[in-house]
Amino acid sequence: MSKPKVGIFGLTGCAGDQLAILNCEDRLLDLVALIDIRDFPMASSDGNQECALDIAMVEGAVVTMRDARRLRAIRQRSATLVALGTCAVWGGVAAMDRDLDRAKLLEEVYGELGKEYDSCPARALHEIVKVDHNITGCPIEKEHFLAAVASLLNGDPPLYPAYPVCTECRMRENNCLLIERGELCCGPITVAGCDARCPQLRIPCVGCRGPVTDANPASALALFEEKGFDRERIWARLRTFAPVGVAS
Ligand code: SF4
Ligand code: SF4
Repeated sequence: MSKPKVGIFGLTGCAGDQLAILNCEDRLLDLVALIDIRDFPMASSDGNQECALDIAMVEGAVVTMRDARRLRAIRQRSATLVALGTCAVWGGVAAMDRDLDRAKLLEEVYGELGKEYDSCPARALHEIVKVDHNITGCPIEKEHFLAAVASLLNGDPPLYPAYPVCTECRMRENNCLLIERGELCCGPITVAGCDARCPQLRIPCVGCRGPVTDANPASALALFEEKGFDRERIWARLRTFAPVGVAS
């Protein structure tokens, strides 16, 4: 049986998710034994840029019309499209202020030259094309990537945690930074999968993995306010990675 043809691409982002894949190191040989990586521009300039793909994995947000064109072209040649990382899944940091006046921002940063930039408000992949699966994280956890590939090869949808970072944090028996120390920790509304890496180090969660599916922002807001944080500060923290509306 021929191996599934896979493409791995980056739009506008930091390339951290693609690096996480390259960092699979000892598993990379197992990986290439199972899948045929046809197009991975960050790893090789020899990729086949035209062939049909069984699976495309795309990192980064859409912040230019060029990104949008590339994404549509990738979608067209791919049977299954996977959004890779928080920027691709949610818009990420790039989407933080996407409702602000773009032309004004460009002018403030680039002056007259701003008019020449191909720039549009940041969007997640699902706002442009149909996305079949998401692997969130900033960056993704390489174990999640490997598990997702294994699931896709078996014809199964990848499974992800549907619970918040707080659950993992409690399982690690950490003292709560929010309840006990009054720190603004986004664990209650952030999807788990990082094993509560930051609270474990006594650093409040900033929500880098995006919101948990059944996030209850109203109750989290009430809890944060009860701890004395004003709405402006809460909003500034929550909107960093979360999509517009999650924390409203
Ligand atoms: S420290 Fe943060 S992640 Fe851990 S239980 Fe408290 S709010 Fe949740
Ligand atoms: S604890 Fe929060 S900020 Fe830290 S890795 Fe996990 S989701 Fe990201």
